[in-house]
Amino acid sequence: MKVSTFEILRCPYCGSRLDLVTSSYHEAQGDEIQQGILGCQCCVFPVVDGIPVMHLQPAAVRARELVEQGDALRARRVMFGLEDEAVGERVDALIASSEATYRTIVEAFGEYIEGGYFLYRFADPTYIVGHAVARAVAGTVLKPGGRAIDICGGSGHLTRALMDLSTAAPVLADLYFAKIWLARRFTAPGCEPVCCDGNSPMPFARGAFRYAMCSDAFMYIWTKRQFVQDMLRLIDDGAGGRESAAVISHTHNQCTWTPSHGQPLTPDGYRNLFETIEPRIVGESVLFADVVNGGPLDLSRQATEQALRAEPALTIIATRHPGVFVPHPLEPPPASAQGEFCVNPLYVESGASGRSVVFQLRFPSEDYEQEYGACRQYLPEEVAIPRDALSALAAGRVPGELSDLLRRRVIVDLPRRYGAPEAGIT
Ligand SMILES: [Zn+2]
Repeated sequence: MKVSTFEILRCPYCGSRLDLVTSSYHEAQGDEIQQGILGCQCCVFPVVDGIPVMHLQPAAVRARELVEQGDALRARRVMFGLEDEAVGERVDALIASSEATYRTIVEAFGEYIEGGYFLYRFADPTYIVGHAVARAVAGTVLKPGGRAIDICGGSGHLTRALMDLSTAAPVLADLYFAKIWLARRFTAPGCEPVCCDGNSPMPFARGAFRYAMCSDAFMYIWTKRQFVQDMLRLIDDGAGGRESAAVISHTHNQCTWTPSHGQPLTPDGYRNLFETIEPRIVGESVLFADVVNGGPLDLSRQATEQALRAEPALTIIATRHPGVFVPHPLEPPPASAQGEFCVNPLYVESGASGRSVVFQLRFPSEDYEQEYGACRQYLPEEVAIPRDALSALAAGRVPGELSDLLRRRVIVDLPRRYGAPEAGIT
């Protein structure tokens, strides 16, 4: 962790500032703390492999004891949740090698991590809506500067979308240490990960951020009321919300059924959580249509209660910033890759046609197709890409003829060393 993170870090329980306990074991270099113990007025927390662990669950307590004993490697293994000695050794060896990719590490974890459909994440319908909302709202409120936080951001897929918008490195907060560790190394290099529990008060100072978001996770939070009030505390701008924004995107709706349902509320139930500010709630299907149609992403709409009740997933935006509830043009596809341009791993090479390679859309499973099949609205069944255009992509350029395929997510900008399926192209 960066030493400067102490400016925004607070104990989740007593609210006081934290400091490195220099009498305990620690490894620090320049402005980075790798291992050590942080103390507040009520307790102590470990920094494990550069990540502050700001909760007191059993693994965190055990990891703190191991850091105190100077056993950094075992502390990390405990935070990874790797109880099996053989798996732990395999993961440690892989991390130390130059061969490691996001994918090989997830595979080495086996049952100890929920890998899911991460390979396809950057093109799934939930992601493309979350991404467009984050770029529009964060892009608006962070224009004069300020910091972003992605709460319950998992492996940092959307944190990556905040890297160039947040003045200081965006914070990625999540309970799952392995996921934020993977995010810092692969998905969103340069983000500042903090391990904390979304069901407890958040370990940050009032007003530390101008933009706070929680995507595809809020329905799994039990203490929703505390969470929302705390999210608003984090973005308290002293101007009643005219300079900051809180966004909860892709939260399920109690009025409809969805896979991985969680414990969702009704649209009105969500609205009631905010108390001090009237949030706007938008149905995700409306935003999805905006994105598929090439924009603008129209946040000026006011949905009827009846329309909201029919939506499987909702986006909730709380702000008084005058620039947020307007139509936002979609950004043009990037000219250069943040990571590396690849053919979407949902495509498999199926043949050749003249000087082109032909690709077919192929879903990894029926479950995937059921949950994310709406991607057919922007991903064609079959696509032919000229070989010389593929070579240009591999060299990091998008030839003009492929810019539409990039917009449609047939071409994706994946993090470096992310890993591709056997049949895909990297
Ligand atoms: Zn404390």
